[in-house]
Amino acid sequence: MNHITCKFGGTSLADAEGIRRAASIVEENPQRRYIIPSAPGKRTPEDKKITDLFYGWHSLVEQDLDASEPRNIIRNRFKDLAKQLGLTVDLDRELEIIDEQAAAHVEPDYMASRGEYLNGLLLAELLKARFVDPLDLIKFDEEGFLDPVTYERMGQALAGVERCIVPGFYGSLPDGRVKTFSRGGSDVTGTIVARATASRLYENWTDVSGFRMADPQMVPNAQRIEEITYQELRELSYMGANVLHDEAIFPVREPGIPISIVNTRAPHEPGTMILAQREPRTPVCGIAGMAGFSMINIEKTLMNRERGFGRRVLSVLEEHGISFEHVPTSIDTMSVILKDEELGNHGPSVIKALHRTCEPDNVNLAHGLALIATVGQGMAGRIGMAARLCSACANAGVNLRVLDQGSSENNIIIGVEEYDLGKAVRAIHDEFAE
Ligand code: ASP
Repeated sequence: MNHITCKFGGTSLADAEGIRRAASIVEENPQRRYIIPSAPGKRTPEDKKITDLFYGWHSLVEQDLDASEPRNIIRNRFKDLAKQLGLTVDLDRELEIIDEQAAAHVEPDYMASRGEYLNGLLLAELLKARFVDPLDLIKFDEEGFLDPVTYERMGQALAGVERCIVPGFYGSLPDGRVKTFSRGGSDVTGTIVARATASRLYENWTDVSGFRMADPQMVPNAQRIEEITYQELRELSYMGANVLHDEAIFPVREPGIPISIVNTRAPHEPGTMILAQREPRTPVCGIAGMAGFSMINIEKTLMNRERGFGRRVLSVLEEHGISFEHVPTSIDTMSVILKDEELGNHGPSVIKALHRTCEPDNVNLAHGLALIATVGQGMAGRIGMAARLCSACANAGVNLRVLDQGSSENNIIIGVEEYDLGKAVRAIHDEFAE
């Protein structure tokens, strides 16, 4: 129970130097026993991610086009890594198998998973650790959902293993075909392994020292978050904050295994701990904002007396296959906020259907909305939180178009014009940062 599961992200393993750095982090602590590598990521902003190249290779083969370019880049990248690290793993043989599979029109998930697989072989040799293929351990059901049998299988396979490498990102379907998680899914493999092995800690090694209170692109001096709860993180990632895969929380939330987000380049620098509970020293723990929302505003006098009005509004969306985000209401108005990508080009047809089904006094559709979530368990029961947030925005000259506080009081959502997004996030950060 004293062991640690570590996952290393693609940027941390992008070159030989990074892989060596990761290996020495692992070797520094014997408790670091279960190691999950991603595929090599970008070395520079212009570089290619190995996983993207594998997808490219697959799609060229599917179109009967020449796939030698991505194939050769992949080949050279792995061969160079092995050479620079002084490893003897038989990459020619491994690449030959992949070639054969690609030519046989294997499923894209198999191709996408090979970056993690090959990187795992390299790391296993470097660390003299056992290589454990997750293919038959991480199981998905027919619909592609994780089969809970995974935990038992993984736990049994890893019991008593001194140190092992489990490539991230993939498992298999009931018929044995490879299935990957969605992009960035090595984090999910990591938390599955942490749970299956009852690790005391899951370390997510990446290229930043934890989360910041706000996106550093909007707030360059954003304060580091020391501790955050699983729930707070869910709320922030829902609004676009993504250092960790959305689904990575689920396996560790129930057993309460803490997650530590740490920096491979600065391994001794403090990062962020994600915990079941935290001492809410600071009321606000993070602010996340996203553009790309629209709002349908429906007015009808005495709508609150009309049975089924809200249901009829939402059924129009359902009939168009559109899901919504928020529904702020007042006495004679009801608004529905949705993502632009959900609405697509259905706007005019939705408005027409609302006229027909709800007979409102007025309906309009407004675009260009950004939503900002200010999240923190320490806000609950504290007087004046919303007032501080609103005055910070007012002082920064930002008009609030929506204001919505969930009954848990852990999250205040505001809607602003898209062009005010950065200004508003900076103002809220500066108001609540210590
Ligand atoms: N290599 C996969 C991706 O690029 C998974 C991961 O890195 O977590 O999405």
